[in-house]
Amino acid sequence: MRNDIRKVALVGTGMVGMSYAYALLNQAVCDELVLIDLDKKRAMGEAMDLNHGLAFSGSNMKIYAGEYRDCADADIVAICAGVAQKPGETRLDLLQRNTEVFRSVVDPVIESGFGGIFLVATNPVDIMTRITHKLSGFPAGRVLGTGTALDTARLRYLLGDYFEADARNVHAYVMGEHGDTEFVPYSQAMLATKPILDICSESSGRYKLSDLDDITEEVRTAAYKIIDAKRATYYGIGMAMTRITKAIFGNENSVLTVSARLNGQYGASDVFVGVPCFINRGGVKKVLTLNLLPEELEKLQASCQTLQQSYDQIKVTHF
Ligand code: NAD
Repeated sequence: MRNDIRKVALVGTGMVGMSYAYALLNQAVCDELVLIDLDKKRAMGEAMDLNHGLAFSGSNMKIYAGEYRDCADADIVAICAGVAQKPGETRLDLLQRNTEVFRSVVDPVIESGFGGIFLVATNPVDIMTRITHKLSGFPAGRVLGTGTALDTARLRYLLGDYFEADARNVHAYVMGEHGDTEFVPYSQAMLATKPILDICSESSGRYKLSDLDDITEEVRTAAYKIIDAKRATYYGIGMAMTRITKAIFGNENSVLTVSARLNGQYGASDVFVGVPCFINRGGVKKVLTLNLLPEELEKLQASCQTLQQSYDQIKVTHF
């Protein structure tokens, strides 16, 4: 990766893609941003709109609508392109259509000579990240998905609210599939350096384990509620992607719950799933293996199995 110009190529300039772009601009995270979409007119309009905000930002980012060949010297290709579920369409049908979308994206990105990091947000994100890995042939560390980064942010916000503490002092993760089988290993959750389970047991009933279960449920169903209220979720995921991008460009070795490939950790292999990982300029440097309780490990393994089953179903027809 070059140190001079930090370049992001964004494929998919819909709500998620542009929330990411807007956060990148406002936080001055990169120097060059190229917008690519099947709908070229939309990408052009979005580039114009963002450029008109440059004078009010602290950034002198170069922003333009481009082509896949512009990925050649990008450091990160972020994929937010996807098709929406049609009425009556199964999850698997959607997955297969999005697999085709990804083939039409990843192939030309690779043909451009791109040698950076893929960051995937399209849902189902764990499977789409694995597909990107498969289609690109890149080393696993250079392909990551947003995983449970957003879910973890939601959890930290809700726990901060519950314990009346700054969310930044809450250290807790949502792990597993970004979806129905995700879970919170509360044995690993801390408020500053104090285990949250200890805080509950010492609180004379003020803080209850059943409330923690409710918080997990609220995290798991947050997307459904937002979609019901405003049709889609995009600001939170745009900011989660920006946080991951910062960790990459800053060579931070930050621990974030991205979708990364397991290679024996937690007793699973090949599957891409949301787990805490060290993120730096090379992508996923390492999976941080937590000492989960047996019942938590079971939940993670069940989540991996669900993801493997979905992947196997598309593999039959598409790879
Ligand atoms: P959107 O419909 O607003 O945008 C999708 C964009 O993809 C459109 O601009 C469309 O033209 C483009 N596109 C479609 N096919 C393409 C192709 N073959 N090549 C290039 N571009 C193509 O959708 P959105 O609300 O921005 O959501 C995008 C994805 O992000 C969805 O899959 C959504 O489920 C996902 N998402 C993920 C998370 C997460 O936590 N990972 C959160 C929210 C949304």
